Amino acid sequence: MKILVVNCGSSSLKYQLIDMTNEEVLAKGLAERIGIEGSRIKHKSTGKEEVLIEQPMDDHKKAIGLVLEALVNENHGAIKSMDEISAVGHRVVHGGEKFSDSVIIGDEVLKTIDECSDIAPLHNPPNIMGIKACQELMPNTPMVAVFDTAFHQSMERSTYIYALPYELYEKYGIRRYGFHGTSHKYVSQKAADMLDKDLEGLKIVTCHLGNGASLSAVKNGKSIDTSMGFTPLEGLVMGTRSGDMDPAIISYIMEKENMSIDEVNNLLNKKSGVLGISGVSSDFRDIEDAASQGNERAQLALDKFKSRVKKYIGAYAAIMGGVDVIVFTAGLGENAPETRKSICKGLDFMGVEIDDDNNNVRGKETVISSSDSKVKVLLIPTNEELMIARDTKNLI
Ligand code: AMP
Repeated sequence: MKILVVNCGSSSLKYQLIDMTNEEVLAKGLAERIGIEGSRIKHKSTGKEEVLIEQPMDDHKKAIGLVLEALVNENHGAIKSMDEISAVGHRVVHGGEKFSDSVIIGDEVLKTIDECSDIAPLHNPPNIMGIKACQELMPNTPMVAVFDTAFHQSMERSTYIYALPYELYEKYGIRRYGFHGTSHKYVSQKAADMLDKDLEGLKIVTCHLGNGASLSAVKNGKSIDTSMGFTPLEGLVMGTRSGDMDPAIISYIMEKENMSIDEVNNLLNKKSGVLGISGVSSDFRDIEDAASQGNERAQLALDKFKSRVKKYIGAYAAIMGGVDVIVFTAGLGENAPETRKSICKGLDFMGVEIDDDNNNVRGKETVISSSDSKVKVLLIPTNEELMIARDTKNLI
């Protein structure tokens, strides 16, 4: 069984074709600049050269059409016919309170995803465009939606409610939802596999540290808390996002700087985080370089980022009544040994001990704690596409 995994942004489309008999990636690629001049697809079938397909793509339907052509292309394709694709798994960012698991997409489901666009105006509309384009081009192929929010629907009311007038929750659905759920779910399951333990009975803190970053407290295989909230702005300090702060700052800077709602939203989402503190970059590699050359604000940005992660680990250990496993994943979590080490430094009081040799790795599934560390610390490269393909396979 071959499953196509599709992840649509407003002007981009990432895809992978996965053979579910052995979970091997047959092809993958990225369509960029959809609806903008200079659109192109970078496509690579496993075992073949990467190709660059430069063709106008006015919309997502055109992009999906070209992706399907690339997949069946005699020279750089991976399959003989589109009929070999058994199903399509779509990443959908927001499932609101309606979806606590992945679902087969029908008219009702599509309508409900559309209703969630209200609280995810930047993300759900392009996801819907991708689904509709695939439905038009592959009318007989089942489609599945896998939601970033679904894994966190297991949070208790007292965890997801904000201390705002309750009517705002009832009227507008203002509550904590959490994101990166597919990644937190994947790495927590993988952690149990790696340790040969049952997920039931494990207390895991999963740290998804990429450009966007979030932590999750996973107890008995269920997310009981996560650091992102109503939107992906809450929680950790990120590449360009502020994360937690005193909400009174917003009206204060709006007044002082004469800012509009759009401008302050842009400031909090695009100009803050480690970029805002350092003034150097949103990329941790640039900030680490600057810090090593004595740039104090770059060092301050790194220190702030790490101390926030540590604070959340402590908080999650408290709400779970302990922690058995800490997992690091995503761009920074997988590739930055020094960052992992500093986050875990001083957590020996709760049984966390990093082994420097074990930790000196990048992008590889491995245990990075010392052999006698009470808490196992793992590095697990995330694989959201595989998780989406697995859910799709299970549903169809
Ligand atoms: P992601 O959003 O998961 O793709 O992660 C992207 C982020 O990971 C980038 O912004 C970098 O800051 C960080 N990253 C990737 N590779 C490295 C590395 N070798 N060292 C430090 N940070 C890295």
